[in-house]
Amino acid sequence: MAGDFDYEMREDAASFSSGSQKARVWTEGWVLRQMYCPSCGEQPLTDYTNNKPVADFYCGLCEEDFELKSTKGKFGKKITDGAYATMMSRLQSDSVPSLMLLRYTAGDKMVQDLSVIPKQFFVTDLIERRKPLAKTARRAGWVGCNILIDKVPRAGRITLVENRIARPKDVVLDKWAKTAFLRGKNLTQKGWVLDVLNCVEHIGQSEFTLGDVYKFENYLSELHPENNHVKPKIRQQLQVLRDAGVLEFMARGKYRVI
Ligand SMILES: [Zn+2]
Repeated sequence: MAGDFDYEMREDAASFSSGSQKARVWTEGWVLRQMYCPSCGEQPLTDYTNNKPVADFYCGLCEEDFELKSTKGKFGKKITDGAYATMMSRLQSDSVPSLMLLRYTAGDKMVQDLSVIPKQFFVTDLIERRKPLAKTARRAGWVGCNILIDKVPRAGRITLVENRIARPKDVVLDKWAKTAFLRGKNLTQKGWVLDVLNCVEHIGQSEFTLGDVYKFENYLSELHPENNHVKPKIRQQLQVLRDAGVLEFMARGKYRVI
């Protein structure tokens, strides 16, 4: 694909009654017709048939799974997902799909924005347990979950399309590749490195010092009460981020975001 997508969602959803069903047909159809795998570049993606609860799409080449969430408004801080217990057990077994976030305009049926959160950014802190459904509900007692997408570091939110402008595919694939170091880490290891990465992003400068990150010592202690050696842990995570090509060590105690 040379550059841009065709942003119009052309799928015919006239026979579906509800707005959300129609949106599902439009957005899924668009992804299948236009989207490449942000992990390896393969196109097209393939859909899981018959609402298999595993995911919505997969890549036939690298076998990455994707779940699609779409909105015609704006994505808030959290996104409603499926059963809480299922999500937690899938986190433990490392079988959560990567999450595609698609924003569209309903009137002209155009895709506006598309980003993806690779599955390696999913940790237990991102999952919020919802209240059980009321006794009067059809599935009384059922417990769902929310995904707290505002807790994902910017490095984990890979933009493919913004305001109908596509990012070059090689840039997307590069950005994805830079996050691959998180794969193979267990949930605790991932939790630490993502928390430190969030602190670094919070500093908001491309160059910063070790002292700047140490200012988050109390915050990180609260997140990890089991660990009494937060400063060494911070240094260790900065090394992980350096080895991953996310940061560069400059002079002693100085760092730069790449
Ligand atoms: Zn792939």
